[in-house]
Amino acid sequence: MLGELRERTLVELFGALEGKYGPNYECKYYPCHFSGQDCSLCYCPFYPCLLYDLGGELKITSSGYVWSCQNCNWIHKTENVEDVLAVLSGYSRQQLIEEDWYFFNRILQELYYGTELGVWEGNAYNLMPAVFKDKECEEVEKTEFLRVVLKDFEIESVHRCNTLEGEGVLIPMRDNGRFHGFYNGRYVICKI
Ligand code: SF4
Repeated sequence: MLGELRERTLVELFGALEGKYGPNYECKYYPCHFSGQDCSLCYCPFYPCLLYDLGGELKITSSGYVWSCQNCNWIHKTENVEDVLAVLSGYSRQQLIEEDWYFFNRILQELYYGTELGVWEGNAYNLMPAVFKDKECEEVEKTEFLRVVLKDFEIESVHRCNTLEGEGVLIPMRDNGRFHGFYNGRYVICKI
């Protein structure tokens, strides 16, 4: 069963697929990101994308971990909204309801990076190759990264780990302005 947030997200997405509407000057939060922003996909269909490159980050709150999109402008830029709607309009409403987080994340990677950079490692989906691509990294003897377990587009748990085995989505750990993780067979710490 879809959670309330995902339901709202899909309702908004289907509305945008009927015709995007641009800035929502009537919203009391407008502009929540930048003046002139496109509000057609206010509830991001890729949430939680777990891709730091877009500006989001993992935050701990009193109710647990959340993916904060406060610093992501990407989904509010008109050209990106148009690209997202062009791709998603190729699928039926029923398919968009039934598809999982991985389906949407792959589409986002293709739009943002031009290709899917994440890779499956057994039952885990490793997003570190996407985030570490083109970053300045130094090899270290050992470090840790994060395993994010998702359920129906919600973060169920976050664990620190240092192996690729297991389930969940593997992302770098952000610490002191650096990314820690595992890339091309070695432990690395990279500049953000
Ligand atoms: S960081 Fe941006 S693209 Fe990612 S889930 Fe948040 S709003 Fe969507």
